[in-house]
Amino acid sequence: MASDFDNEEYSCRSCDGDIGTPKRQNGWRCASCGAHVLILATDSGGRSASIERVPASELVVGDHVVMHGAPLSEGREVLRIAAKPNGDLNISLRGYGTLKNKDPADYFNRWTS
Ligand SMILES: [Zn+2]
Repeated sequence: MASDFDNEEYSCRSCDGDIGTPKRQNGWRCASCGAHVLILATDSGGRSASIERVPASELVVGDHVVMHGAPLSEGREVLRIAAKPNGDLNISLRGYGTLKNKDPADYFNRWTS
């Protein structure tokens, strides 16, 4: 669910090295140090937010995620994460309901704190 926004600027909070070209294939991580790349994103409505792109397996309760197609200003709080026997995740979001049977490798846009 790596939604792309109108504009995205990439940087690394952890090093001054070359971050390379962040993309799904390298896990949206810095090529120099492996940290999650910081993404300053702006959506079609001109709203901006600092996000990072993480797999569902790294989400924790209390994170805020931006759903595909939603404004960047609408971060949905993760209320509960339940792993199913097959490893898939049910992820409950405030004001949204539960995303069922998500692949742990699916990417989410998470607000950075
Ligand atoms: Zn780095």
